[in-house]
Amino acid sequence: MSTVRIIDGKAVAQTLRGQIAQRVAKLTAAGRTPGLTVVLVGDDPASQVYVRNKVKSCQEVGMRSDMITLPATSTQAEVEAVLKRLSADPAVDGILLQLPLPKGLDSHKAIECIDPAKDVDGLTMASAGALFDGMPSFIPCTPYGCMKLLESVGCDPKGKHAVVIGRSILVGKPVGMLLLAANATVTFCHSATSNLKEIVRQADIVIAAVGRPKMIGADMIKPGAVVIDVGINRTAEGKLVGDVDFDALLPVAGAITPVPGGVGPMTITMLLENTLHAVERRG
Ligand code: NDP
Repeated sequence: MSTVRIIDGKAVAQTLRGQIAQRVAKLTAAGRTPGLTVVLVGDDPASQVYVRNKVKSCQEVGMRSDMITLPATSTQAEVEAVLKRLSADPAVDGILLQLPLPKGLDSHKAIECIDPAKDVDGLTMASAGALFDGMPSFIPCTPYGCMKLLESVGCDPKGKHAVVIGRSILVGKPVGMLLLAANATVTFCHSATSNLKEIVRQADIVIAAVGRPKMIGADMIKPGAVVIDVGINRTAEGKLVGDVDFDALLPVAGAITPVPGGVGPMTITMLLENTLHAVERRG
């Protein structure tokens, strides 16, 4: 049996948050406490939990954080007006629009109302373009977290074959661009990939971002591969599982993230990091 390394996202996140708190304390001492404003439209219970966690995490590292809640009946113009007002407000360093928006609202158009200098979720076209150009300003939080987890186990992507399963704008595409920028040879797989098993089996680094419980089995993994499982799926029994069959991969993988406790804790941590970046850039 190989000596698999369990990548402890909670511990990595904890360490990073400690460092962030110290940087925030320094800024605060200089009279410049960073501030994030989260905008929630509607009353989706899952989104409410996510937003509360983001606000709480900001407070834990000493940042200012506001939450603006708009009714589900808000018009596109009303949502955009709030985002434009926050973009123009010098007291706001970072703006996060919680997704998904209620039906009928155009999230792409709304996101474009966020000043790219405050786009701490890294979702504006300006941020996506910068990432594509290899000069990222704000890196989307979950892909950023995946890269930090690779770093935490000393996995340098340079020269390695990284296979990304999933090509969403939130996770798959940006994580692939980051791996490319880190000099990996990157393959993207998706729902129309015909020989998924053969391709994933060639990977030194596997990033699974699909949303299908345990779809990546041990027979798809090259011995020693580093496996980052982004997927969050709830089973019929109410248990959270990833896209990867964690137990089955333990004897095969070189390093692997658990679900929960892997990528999840990193996402908000990188949001805090991006908010600090916003302040440090603005000066
Ligand atoms: P999306 O649904 O937007 O994208 C899923 C991707 O998986 C698509 O590109 C799709 O392909 C691909 N796919 C679907 N079925 C297959 C298949 N059978 N074989 C190969 N590829 C397939 O999801 P997200 O990217 O937003 O999220 C992915 C997962 O990550 C979800 O479980 C989500 O909950 C989780 N997540 C976790 C976060 C965290 O903080 N840990 C943050 C964000 C997401 P196609 O493009 O062809 O449709």
